[in-house]
Formats: sequence, C-alpha cells, structure tokens
Amino acid sequence: MHKIIVLIGAPGAGKGTQARLLEERRGIPQISTGDMFREMKSSNTPLALEIQRIMKEGGLVPDDLTYKMVKERTEKEDCKGTYVLDGFPRNVIQADMLEELAKEQNKKVKAFLIDVDSDILEKRLTGRRTCKVCGEIFNIYFKPPTKCDRPECDLEKNLVQREDDNLESVRKRLITYEESTKPLIEYYEKSGRLVKINGDREVEQIYSEISRSIDDNS
Ligand code: AMP
Repeated sequence: MHKIIVLIGAPGAGKGTQARLLEERRGIPQISTGDMFREMKSSNTPLALEIQRIMKEGGLVPDDLTYKMVKERTEKEDCKGTYVLDGFPRNVIQADMLEELAKEQNKKVKAFLIDVDSDILEKRLTGRRTCKVCGEIFNIYFKPPTKCDRPECDLEKNLVQREDDNLESVRKRLITYEESTKPLIEYYEKSGRLVKINGDREVEQIYSEISRSIDDNS
C-alpha cells in the first residue's frame, strides 16, 4: 500500500531538508504547505495578504483552506504513489482531515518525529538562509554558505532569508508548535504510527534512518 509520510518537528527541526532529499534522491514528491503559502503570498489578493499577515505573526492559516490546498495538490498525478507532507498536519483537526484523505486515496499514514533539542532551534531559524535558485538551505552559524555544488548558483546574489525567520516571528512559531502541533506526537504514537528520529545529528544519518524506515512494512 502506498504511504503518506508525515514529518512532524518544531520549526527548524529539519523537515524541509529531509523532504527535499527524499524528493531529490528517491523521487518521492515533497508537498510543503509552507512553500505553497509562500508562493501564494506574492499575488496581491485579499486572501494572499491575510495569509501573509498570519505567517508573519507565526500563527496557523485556517484549517479548511489549508486542507483544500493539500487535497487539490495531492490529487495530481505525481502523488499517485507515496508522497511526503512537510508541514501538514499542524494540529489535531488537520490530522483528522488527513485520515479522511488517506482513506479516499487508499493510503497508509506513517509519521516521523524529527526530535531536536529546543535550545538550538532559535539559532537554526534566525541563522537560516536559502538559495533562491536551487533551494539549498544554509545556516550562518552551523552551515555557512561558502559554496554550493550547483554551478548556476551565485550565493552572493541568491541567498535569501525567510520573512518569518526574524526573532519575533520565530518565538511565536515555536509557541504555536508547542500548543498546536506537539499533540500530534501522541496522536500518532497512540495508533502505533510514529517513528521517533533523533534530529540532533548529521543530515545524512537522519536521512538514511528515515529512508530505510519508509520502506518498512509497519
Ligand atoms: P513552514 O514553511 O512549514 O515553517 O510554514 C511557514 C508558515 O506557513 C507557518 O508558520 C504557518 O503560518 C503556515 N503554515 C504552513 N503549514 C501550515 C499548516 N499545515 N496549517 C496552517 N498553517 C500552515
């Protein structure tokens, strides 16, 4: 049976990095609600402005809207098999919605918790810089953007900082995670569908553990 892989973790835990690797190396589509909202923000509609405000404040976009977007996206051809959700669900209501979607799509939900010591999250987020050309994620404290393997990249010009990676937004996002998203750990644990991953390690180590576990029949 195909799977819906859910990545749970605080902002900065490395969900995006892992989802990106799964897509690059195994062709498993990465469905990132954060990325989809960021794309939407650039249009100047009232809805886009509202989303922009919510994201800047570190809150959550309404569940119905988020779910509709995920449903529409995952009904596309490339999501016929296993796919990875990066950033959804973010609360228990969304997790219930995902149960319905999984039933409709005849897929099994498997969740991974990428567990990272909360002391380092602030630095991971405020130090984060992304190459807007290739999407590579750097960090001014932990992974300085000195070189990129992709020849088309000129890091001087292409590095951007996310609008919500400033200290004020970061603190609010971490609170939102504690209050709304953390209950998902119990949600998936209770039903025996959670794999806990120590996220305080090298990207490659984390990747191989997740990648192996995706193929397990559990
Ligand atoms: P991310 O890139 O996953 O950190 O998401 C950035 C922002 O997008 C979050 O702080 C939320 O404001 C919004 N967002 C992303 N995913 C969701 C979701 N599943 N539900 C509600 N809001 C979301």
